[in-house]
Amino acid sequence: MKSGIHPKYGKSVVKCACGETFETGSVRPTLHVDVCSKCHPFFTGRQKLIDTGGRVDKFRKRMDQK
Ligand SMILES: [Zn+2]
Repeated sequence: MKSGIHPKYGKSVVKCACGETFETGSVRPTLHVDVCSKCHPFFTGRQKLIDTGGRVDKFRKRMDQK
């Protein structure tokens, strides 16, 4: 897809916390997300920079207790 074009027709540029940017459809011109398909652990199989506040650790501890 061609890059550098201005968003229109509901296109929006999504900027991820990992630095990745991609286009998607939205009513908002720009969006900011914490994870995208490029850096989400489900796709990468590893974690990086998304465990803000130890949320994942808390979740894991909860799972271990069961
Ligand atoms: Zn990302």
